This record gives sequence, structure tokens and C-alpha cells, in this order.
Amino acid sequence: MTYPIASPWYGTQQIDNRIWCLTEPHVHPIFSANIFLVLGSDADMVVDSGMGVAPLLPVVDSLRPDPDKPLILFTTHCHVDHIGAAHEFDTRLVHPLEADDLASPTPYSLNTAGISDAFRKLFLDAGYAPLWPDLIDALPYAGYDLAAYTLKPAPATRMVEEGAIVDLGDWQAEVLHLPGHSPGQVGLWHADSGTLFGADAIYDGPLIYDGPGMDVAAYAATLRRIKALPVQRVLGGHDPVFGRARCHQIVDHYLALWQA
Ligand SMILES: [Zn+2]
Ligand SMILES: [Zn+2]
Repeated sequence: MTYPIASPWYGTQQIDNRIWCLTEPHVHPIFSANIFLVLGSDADMVVDSGMGVAPLLPVVDSLRPDPDKPLILFTTHCHVDHIGAAHEFDTRLVHPLEADDLASPTPYSLNTAGISDAFRKLFLDAGYAPLWPDLIDALPYAGYDLAAYTLKPAPATRMVEEGAIVDLGDWQAEVLHLPGHSPGQVGLWHADSGTLFGADAIYDGPLIYDGPGMDVAAYAATLRRIKALPVQRVLGGHDPVFGRARCHQIVDHYLALWQA
């Protein structure tokens, strides 16, 4: 398979005066996760690190007004599309239930031949397009060796559980444990602006609740909890930013679906 070169690899979009969203437009939609950069007075934070197909840290640093400032990587959960570039960061936060997955990630291939029929059906049933032969449809640079793709160990430097605070100086967010899609998934709640970093608990696309390590009852409780928050804006693990009304629509849709 010959692929075109996509350079730059990452899409960048400014959300507001302190938040950027980086995306990987040439990764299949189901594995194309959001990477957020939040700028603070004392430290900056990156939320999730994509597939790790191309170096992420240089792109992040190019967006930071002061690249010498401390940089925190907050990993919401350890599915492949959220941890790929984690090893590039020195400070790594994760929930204890997923710490092992970050320290010794399950090997993953960009070639989709090994993805089981059960997974393909799960993705199709959820509403995603069929998988491509590879998880990418372009290369980050000429000579990129698709077969050499690996997930590198990135052991956590700090464990974060429910109620922990991530402090960037002039911006603090509270860690919310949001299990269901994965056991140790965590989001971030920035009360001052009513902003929820919802991870894969909630985004404006097909939610995945039926696979290994997933728990619909826990997921339902997580969605009810999200609905009870004074949310103004959700920055999800995938897909564009959305507001309160859409957040409630999504929650209600899945709660009704699971009740039936
Ligand atoms: Zn996930
Ligand atoms: Zn995801």
C-alpha cells in the first residue's frame, strides 16, 4: 500500500485563549482522539497523547508561549489512541487502575488484519465506518515504517484518583473518576468555566461501551453524574467541542438505549 505524506501530521485548533486541540486527521475516525493542550501560569498540561504515529512533544512545545515551563501529561485512560506519545513526556499522570497499561502497554499494530471480527462488529454496530487496511491513510513523513510502530512504556510519575487536583497555577481542575468505558478512566472538571474534559465517557460521536473492560452499569452511573454537573462545555476524547444542551441529549440517548 502506498500512502501520501501528510505533513504536518497533527491538526491544530485553538479552542480559547488557553486551550488548544490537536487531532490526527489521517488516523481512522475510531482511533482518532483529541489531544488537548491547556496553558497555565506555572505549568502547562497535555490531555492524552494520540496514537504516537508522529512525534507529539515538538508540536506541543511549538504552541507553548514558554516551552521551558513544566509540562504535565494527563492520560484519561489507556486505550491505544490516547497513550501513543506518552513516553515523550517526563511528567505522567494516570489513574492507578490503568497504571500497568501505561507502564507496559499491550503491543498494537497499525495494520488492521489482526483486529478480530468481534471488534469490527462492535465498531460497525456503534456507527463507525469499516476499518481501513491500516489505521492510517497517510504517512507522517517519507520513509515512515508502518510495521515498526510500537507503544513504548511510559510509567506514571503520579497517580491521580477521584478528587485529586491538577494545578497549573492560575487554572485548577478536579479529577473525576468516570468508569464504564474503561475501569480507570478519569476526566477533568474545571468548575470556574464549567468545562468538562470528558475523555471517552462522553463525546459527540458513537460511544463505545460494549468491549473488553467495559461496564454498562458503571457507564450509566458516569453519564448520570455528568448530567448532574453544571456543565457549560465538554471537551471530549473524540469529535468537536459541544455545549450543555448537546451533553444532555447524548446522556439521555444512551441512558434510554441501555434501559431498553
Ligand atoms: Zn477509549
Ligand atoms: Zn478513544
